[in-house]
Amino acid sequence: MPSTHQKRIGVFGGAFDPPHNAHVALAQSALEQLGLDSLHVVPTGYAWHKARVLSAPEHRLAMTRLAFQDMPRVEVDERELQRAGPTFTIDTLEALQAENPDAQLYLIMGADQFAAFRQWHRWQAIVGLAIICIADRATSTAAKAQFDAYSEQKDRFLALPLAPMPVSATQIRQLMASGAGQTREIGDLVPEPVARYISVNHVYSPR
Ligand code: ATP
Repeated sequence: MPSTHQKRIGVFGGAFDPPHNAHVALAQSALEQLGLDSLHVVPTGYAWHKARVLSAPEHRLAMTRLAFQDMPRVEVDERELQRAGPTFTIDTLEALQAENPDAQLYLIMGADQFAAFRQWHRWQAIVGLAIICIADRATSTAAKAQFDAYSEQKDRFLALPLAPMPVSATQIRQLMASGAGQTREIGDLVPEPVARYISVNHVYSPR
């Protein structure tokens, strides 16, 4: 008998420089709340929208693998790191849809990313392909207010519950670079294997 279950695939992109506890919590919330069969965690290649140069792709990939290693339905997806030039989310979504023609795609992001969503390359095509799932970053009202701008397509947007976690990759890089950054100081902000990797490999501090 054919299965009636439509496969649900989540896509969660980020610089992951480094991946931190809020990324892990957001991924967990997406898996549970959306009933995802799999979640592709996609480190970005060249991030056209970030003002700074990102850490080496090898480091970001290794840290991302460590951060999500205990989550069986997460697949760390290297495709954007292998793409030359700017990486666009729509390209990744189109490729995933072609690989999984019957699946429903869910694009996961924090409210800060969503605030600039209309500047994304071919954003209307993204809305056509994936349901956009937004987690509030610090307050519980920001994302909901932003939904109003998309009222004509409301069913394509979802709020993802996430207890506010005021952690950012910027904060972790700054802690490490200031010299204050001992593994134990970032130990509450990133998964333990990531803290160890950062420390051993001097990812954010001179050797
Ligand atoms: P940076 O501080 O370098 O800008 P970041 O902490 O925002 O980095 P990214 O890798 O850019 O981390 O984020 C990947 C995704 O995770 C984005 O969609 C972002 O909105 C989301 N995200 C990051 N931190 C949080 C957080 N504390 N709460 C909710 N979502 C978050």
